[in-house]
Amino acid sequence: MLRIISRSRRSLPVAPSPTCRRQLFGWATILAEDNLFHPLSKSPFPQLVDFGKRIRTLAPCPVCLKSQDIRRAVRHECEDCGFPTHCSHEHWQQDNEHKKYCGRLRTANEDEHDVRSGRRIREFEMPGPQPSDETVSLANWDIFWYTRGFTSMDTDRQRRNASKLLTYPMSVAGTLHQHSSLTLRNQRVTPEGARSLAALRTVLHTPSGTPETQAAAINKPPMRIFIVGARAESSLPPHIWEQVCMLFPTAVFQLYFIGPEVSFPRHPDDPPTPSPPPQDSSSRSISAIWKPPAPPGFITRKTVRRMDAAYGVPSYHLAYSPQLSITGLQTNFSDIYPRFQDTFDPYTDAFFLFSPGFGFPSPTTDDCLQINSSAEWGPVIPQLLDSKCAIFVTGFSPTDVERDVRSLEGAEGVSGEFDWIVTPGSNPFGSEKWDIAEFDPRVMVKTNWGIWGIRGKRRDVKEGYLAL
Ligand SMILES: [Zn+2]
Ligand SMILES: [Zn+2]
Repeated sequence: MLRIISRSRRSLPVAPSPTCRRQLFGWATILAEDNLFHPLSKSPFPQLVDFGKRIRTLAPCPVCLKSQDIRRAVRHECEDCGFPTHCSHEHWQQDNEHKKYCGRLRTANEDEHDVRSGRRIREFEMPGPQPSDETVSLANWDIFWYTRGFTSMDTDRQRRNASKLLTYPMSVAGTLHQHSSLTLRNQRVTPEGARSLAALRTVLHTPSGTPETQAAAINKPPMRIFIVGARAESSLPPHIWEQVCMLFPTAVFQLYFIGPEVSFPRHPDDPPTPSPPPQDSSSRSISAIWKPPAPPGFITRKTVRRMDAAYGVPSYHLAYSPQLSITGLQTNFSDIYPRFQDTFDPYTDAFFLFSPGFGFPSPTTDDCLQINSSAEWGPVIPQLLDSKCAIFVTGFSPTDVERDVRSLEGAEGVSGEFDWIVTPGSNPFGSEKWDIAEFDPRVMVKTNWGIWGIRGKRRDVKEGYLAL
C-alpha cells in the first residue's frame, strides 16, 4: 500500500539563504519572476539570441509557404511570443493560425528565461536514498514526486522543468519497476512482456515479501541498461541517473551509452575551458543557471580515454557509486556488437532507444528509411532482437511513435521477427515541456511523450531458463 509521507524529509541539506549563496558563489538573480518575457533578439542571454538567429536561418514563413509555396525566411518577431515567426509584419497579421500556438511559444520563451534567471530552482534538487519502509508510487509524475520526497511542485513551470530533467531516467525506472503503471491489466504490457519484465525484476527486486535491504544485493548480478543511439541523455549529470538506483535499492546498475553522438566528460589532457568573464552590474549577458547541490557520490575510479584498449573505440568509464557505473562508447552499436554478442541475457540486460527516428528518411541513403539503412538502424535492430532482451523505444509525439512503429513493417530482419512486450502509447514519465523546433517554431514536441517495447521472437527454450 502507498504510504503518504511528509514532503520535507530526505531532501539534501538545505542550501544557504540567498544572501549567503551570493557571498559563497558570487552570483545573483538576474531576472525577476515578473520579467521573464523578452523577444529572443533582445534576450539578455546570448544562448537565446543565438536560438532566435538559428530559427531565422532555418524556418520558413508559413504564409508564404502556404500561398506561394515559397520558403521565405522568418524575419518578423511576434510581439506576443518573442519568436521569429513570419517574413513580415503583414504576413504575421494575416495568419490566423499563429494564435493557436502563440501561447505555447510565449510559455517556452518565459521558461527559457526562467531557467537562466539565477533563481534557486528547487525542482532540480534531487532527494537522497529512499527509506526501505516507504513505498514509491510510479503512477504518474505527481504521485512519484510526492511519494519520493521531491520539493512540492506548485506551478506548471516547476513540473515542466522537473519532468524535462528526469524524463530519461524515469522512463527507464518507470518501465522496469515492479510498481510500473504499464501493466497487463491496462493492456500496456502483453503476456510476453509480463514474462520479460518478470525476468528482469528477479534481478531488480527481492522476492515478494522480503525487504529490499542492501544485504539482499549481495551475489546479485548487475543489471545492464544499454542506451543505444544515445545523445542528450548521455550528457545528464550522473546524480540524475542515480535516481534510478534509488528506486531499486538492491540492484547494481551498469549503464552503457552507445552511439556516435555520445557525450564525453572532459579529457584530463584537454585544456581547461575558459572561465566566463567576470560579471558586474553593467553586464547582464551572463546566464546564471543556478546549480543545485549535487550529492558527493562515491567516485572510486574515473577513467576517460580517447581510445580505450578494451573496446577499440573512444570510450570512458565512470564508477559513480557502489550501485552505479557508467560507460560511454562513442561508436555505432554494430561496431561494438561482437564484444557483447555472447553475453546478452534477458534476465540482466535491457535496451532503451530514445526517439530513434526509425521511420525518418535516412540522411545517408537515398529513398530509404533509417530502419532500413545500413548506416543507421538497418543492422542494429536484428542484432538487438537476436539477444532476446527487452527493447524499449520512445517517441516525441503520437505521430513520431506511429511513424517508427509503422517502419517495422517491411524492415528486413525485423518484420515478423519480434513480439510486442509494451503496446505503443503515452509514457507516464514523458517530459511535460514543449521543445520548439529550430527548423519551424510551429513544430513542438515533448521528449519521450510515448513508449513501446518489443523483443526478438523466442523459438526455442534455452536450457535452465524459463521460456520467456
Ligand atoms: Zn511571408
Ligand atoms: Zn506569437
